[in-house]
Amino acid sequence: MSKIKVITPVVELDGDEMARVMWGWIKEKLILPYLDIDLVYFDYHLNNRDATENRILYDAAEAIKKYRVGAKCAAINPDQKRVEEYGLNKAWKSPNSGTRNQIGGTLFRQPIVFENIPRLIPGWKKPIVVARHAFGGMYGGTDMSIPGEGKVTLNFIPAGKGASKQEEIYEYKGPGVALGIYNTEESVRGFAMSCMNFGLERGYPVYLGTKNTELEHYDGLFKNSFDELYETRFREQFESKGIAYEHRMVDDLAAFAVKSSGGFVWACKNYDGDILSDLVAAGFGSLGLMTSMLLTPDGKTVLTEAAHGTVTRHFREHQAGKETSTNPIASLFAWTRAIYYRGLFDGTPEVQKFAIALEQACFDTVESGRMTKDLALLTGANTWLTTRQFLQEIKSTFEANNS
Ligand code: NAP
Ligand code: MG
Repeated sequence: MSKIKVITPVVELDGDEMARVMWGWIKEKLILPYLDIDLVYFDYHLNNRDATENRILYDAAEAIKKYRVGAKCAAINPDQKRVEEYGLNKAWKSPNSGTRNQIGGTLFRQPIVFENIPRLIPGWKKPIVVARHAFGGMYGGTDMSIPGEGKVTLNFIPAGKGASKQEEIYEYKGPGVALGIYNTEESVRGFAMSCMNFGLERGYPVYLGTKNTELEHYDGLFKNSFDELYETRFREQFESKGIAYEHRMVDDLAAFAVKSSGGFVWACKNYDGDILSDLVAAGFGSLGLMTSMLLTPDGKTVLTEAAHGTVTRHFREHQAGKETSTNPIASLFAWTRAIYYRGLFDGTPEVQKFAIALEQACFDTVESGRMTKDLALLTGANTWLTTRQFLQEIKSTFEANNS
């Protein structure tokens, strides 16, 4: 096969431990032999983050903003134990939120579904993509304990001219608690844009769940932003793909999701998204099959990654010279999804086709019974391949499919 030319570079963020080992194998075995690609490399190895005093996170985010496509390997989020283990100057802030916050956008968590891998919720035949609005709500909230009898009010004091506002929240007869949360039109509208752009590109309907009957203004902002954006900019394009956007009550939507066969984007407010992304991940079964993608509101910048961590326990075995059976699929899809979007943004369908063909080879391999231990155990099998054998099978399948 002759190599396919990729016009614009992809930003590669390398990581730690077993995830790093697999990341390198995937690149050497399944990416570089087939693509003529310029990778702008940043090493998030914990010692390198320490040596650069975490500046590498900011440099990498700037590169992603410039080239618009990044793929990230899992990296350690250091705690005090890691500081000792790696001899660090300090427990640097998370490599994930650091990069994400600088790029902005919405995180889409997406499972990879194989016909022969049983799910905890067997009715889920297609992915449910959870989109979490990672701004404001409970996470930016201010809470307070109330010592006794009295009143809590909500006040708005305008910075310039204009009327102030005041609402009574509750009149306490005894001790209790109170909570203040906020959001902004800009952020909610950006979230709506990301969700619509993602659904359109993926060909999935988009469902937003809120409780706007209870929170007319707060949840109303979510509902109204999505409604308005859909009507003014997306309805026609959605309908031409046979999909739609719908708002539902969040509790109805939760019941619908469990009974559904999947195949939609579930747009969640921040707290809902925290819970539901873990619920959906558990329902689909394996951490090794969950990917994440950050997409900016304009739909023009993406950062892909596996949702699992650095798989430390397996790395210890690898360090001891043993072959492990760690699942590389989510890491492989971090590569292929980045390459897919690179092709989309560059207008090079042959690059997109390569990404899809490599994903197809992975589907064919697993669905013909060749897989790593985590998946084999789910199917009840008692034999499995090592990571390296599995990657070799994908490579052979890819070459056989495309010869
Ligand atoms: P983890 O690396 O996801 O691993 C937890 C366990 O899940 C593993 O021990 C393994 O179970 C199973 N597992 C996860 N991924 C697997 C795969 N690809 N194939 C097979 N089994 C897999 O989570 P952790 O141990 O809590 O975290 C380890 C390090 O990763 C931490 O330092 C954390 O900061 C970092 N982390 C990074 C990210 C990120 O960069 N996005 C996300 C989460 C965690 P068995 O041991 O039973 O085989
Ligand atoms: Mg969570």
